[in-house]
Amino acid sequence: MRRFVRNSIVWVAALTLVPLTVLLVMQYSFLRRLEETTAQAERNWLRNVVADVVRDVDHDYRNASEWALDLTTDSLRDHDALGTHFRDAHVPGAKIYFTVRFGEEMWDLSTYDPNGRARTVSLAEGQAMKVAVASWSVVHHFGTALPVRGLSIDDADRTNRIIVKPITDGALHVQGVTGVVLDNERARQAMADIALRSIRRRKHNDLVIRIGDPKLFAARATGRREFIVEPLKFAYMDWFLGVRDVCATPEELAHLNFRFNALWTAGVAIALVAAIFLAIQATARQMRLSQMKSDFVSNVSHELRTPLSSIRVFGEYMRLGRVEKPEKIREYGEYIEAESRRLTQLINNILDFSRIESAEKKYRFAECDPGAIITDTVSAFEVPLRERGFNIVVDVAPSLPPVRLDHDSIAQALVNLIDNAVKYSGERKEIGVRAFAAGDELRIEVQDHGIGIAVCEQKKIFEKFYRVGSGLVHDVKGSGLGLAIVSHIVKAHHGRVEVASTPGDGTTFTIVIPTAHPQTGSIPEATLENA
Ligand code: ADP
Repeated sequence: MRRFVRNSIVWVAALTLVPLTVLLVMQYSFLRRLEETTAQAERNWLRNVVADVVRDVDHDYRNASEWALDLTTDSLRDHDALGTHFRDAHVPGAKIYFTVRFGEEMWDLSTYDPNGRARTVSLAEGQAMKVAVASWSVVHHFGTALPVRGLSIDDADRTNRIIVKPITDGALHVQGVTGVVLDNERARQAMADIALRSIRRRKHNDLVIRIGDPKLFAARATGRREFIVEPLKFAYMDWFLGVRDVCATPEELAHLNFRFNALWTAGVAIALVAAIFLAIQATARQMRLSQMKSDFVSNVSHELRTPLSSIRVFGEYMRLGRVEKPEKIREYGEYIEAESRRLTQLINNILDFSRIESAEKKYRFAECDPGAIITDTVSAFEVPLRERGFNIVVDVAPSLPPVRLDHDSIAQALVNLIDNAVKYSGERKEIGVRAFAAGDELRIEVQDHGIGIAVCEQKKIFEKFYRVGSGLVHDVKGSGLGLAIVSHIVKAHHGRVEVASTPGDGTTFTIVIPTAHPQTGSIPEATLENA
């Protein structure tokens, strides 16, 4: 049966664990592929975001420049109006607005700060403006008509980049130029503001922006976190705008996602394995219990049949007058008496067990002298046991305090322990029964020097129907109920049963009952613990 249970467990485990493992391997490779795809998707998404943001920055910059540099020939002479116009203009990062009117002899140059006030310029700024205007002065000189008046960029001097726009008359001849000199730092800041607004508008609040020349995106400068970049399209065409997630790269995000999913999968798998394990364990317990029940039936039948047939045979002998010698008649009589007592005890145990199982067992507590219970119980055994070669030593402390006990139940527990001591004594037929008070506990010990109980079995022997091993350990018959009933009785007295045993050396069972506890009729557990 055990082999069958073990085989079933192995089969069930194999049939569930193998598909589960296959599923886990498949899930793992799926999650790995998902990780790669997620990183790629995240990267593509960031690329789209950065392209959108660059488009927004470019659009804002171009619009502001178009508006600021949209002047007519007439306006070139009105310096106050020009000041007001440039004050209202908002070209991102502007440091100087200027106009140049080409005359026959000389150029008329006016420069303004972003507040529209006249401003002097440095040598480098003057040079940069001259270079930016030079080509338009040539166009003016040759009187070429301009079909389109567009913005152009002059970034020969990278620290003074200039956006310029020609000013034409009605015949589309260039009469002057207006432009704006940019401050790199202010422009970077202004573009970053536009980019931030663009990102917020798209609700991507967990992105970081960086704007600048390629050096700014070198691995060291970005602190190892890579930016997804796109070149700017206006004025700063040699610069890039980059974005990245505030806390992770696409690969890190994908890996985080992978770890999260993998952990969940592992959690579910562990829960599943635990559930399978518990189910197998419950089934094994159930099978063990049913095995123990059928063992119980066969053991009890044997326990009933053997003494009954002996009693019948001895009874027949006596009825037919085949036994004449008085000592033989006494011997047979004693045998019949002993076997009947054993039968009574077995039946008592079975009845008690059934009452305990159906929670009908009632205890009647009354103040008793524990010493008297012990000596009375042992004395019923003494003579027959001595005749079977047992030496039974009773040592009851003289001044045991009275304790509230159920007299019959405690006697029955003691009978069960003595009966076990007899059954499992083997060759050394010495039994000791001791009772004494220790602190506020009453201790009743039953000691034998028999086969003993292995440590791993010492807990299980109190389970219902449980019997140690098989013929390998002992071939004594029994019901497997004795200790379960002892344990229940003692628990009802709020006490405990201790066992100290060494295989081959003997066993001591100790019933420990608190003397101070006000015993009541209630039972802590109505049924016996399940095996
Ligand atoms: P049983 O009717 O089998 O004796 P019990 O519940 O009284 O049932 O005991 C359970 C098992 O504990 C026994 O089968 C036996 O293996 C073991 N056992 C109980 N008492 C002793 C003892 N004094 N010495 C050795 N083994 C014991």
